[in-house]
Amino acid sequence: MKIAPRLTIFMALLSAALSGCFSYTKVETTTTNISRPPIRVLIVGGGTSHDFNRWYQQADAATLSREGLCKVMYTDNTDSIANYLATTDVIYLATNQPINTVGRKAIFEFAAAGRGIILGHPALWYNYKDWPEYNLQLVSGGASSHDRYGSFDEEIINTNHPITAGVEQKFKLKDERYHFVIDAAGPGVIILLNNHLDGSDKVYPSIFVVKNPKARIVGFALGHDAASHNIVAYQSLLRNAVRWVAHR
Ligand SMILES: [Zn+2]
Repeated sequence: MKIAPRLTIFMALLSAALSGCFSYTKVETTTTNISRPPIRVLIVGGGTSHDFNRWYQQADAATLSREGLCKVMYTDNTDSIANYLATTDVIYLATNQPINTVGRKAIFEFAAAGRGIILGHPALWYNYKDWPEYNLQLVSGGASSHDRYGSFDEEIINTNHPITAGVEQKFKLKDERYHFVIDAAGPGVIILLNNHLDGSDKVYPSIFVVKNPKARIVGFALGHDAASHNIVAYQSLLRNAVRWVAHR
C-alpha cells in the first residue's frame, strides 16, 4: 500500500525529466538551423524634428535584430561614421545632422565598394546645401516639403521585388507624406510603393530602389513616428530591404 504512491511520484519525476530532455533537443535543433552570421547594420540617427532614439535606435533596431537577422550598432555621432564602416555590411542613414568631410568620403567609398545602404525618412530630405552629391547620386532626388501629418494610402506597385515579397499590397498609414521628387540628373529610381491621399491628384514614391551603379540603395520616405515603425508592413519591408541590400 505504501509503495504505490512512491512509484507514482517516481514515474512522474521520470516523465518530467524525459520531457525536459525532449524539449532541450528541440531547442538545439532550432539553434543549429541558423546558418548565416547576422547582417552587421550601422544605424546613424540624430538631428531635428524626429525622435531618433525611439524610432531608430530602439524600434527599428529591435525589428532588425529579431530572429538574429541583424546585429545593429547605433550612433548619433556622425563624426564617427568612418570608424564603423570597415565592420559594417549595411549603413542605415536616418539622420538630418551635418556630416563632416571624412564621413561623406567614407559613405561614398562604401557605396563605390558595392555595400548596402538604407536611407530612412529624415535622410531623404534636402539636408545638405553644401553636399549636392548626396541627393544627386545616393538619393537621386529628395523632398523639401510634405503634407501635414495625417492618414493616406500606401500601395505596392512592384509585387515581384524581393523587398515587397509577402507584404500586404495596400495599407493605410499615418505619416508625413513627403513630396519626394526624382532628380532626372541622378541615376534614377525603381518605385516599389506609392502613396495616394484622398482629395489630391499627386502620387509620391514611398519606398524605392536607387539605381546606383555599384551599391544597392533603398529609400524609405515613410517613417516619421510610431504609426509607421510599429506596423507589420513597415517592419517586413525594412527587414526585406536590409536583406536585399546585403545580398542575402
Ligand atoms: Zn518626419
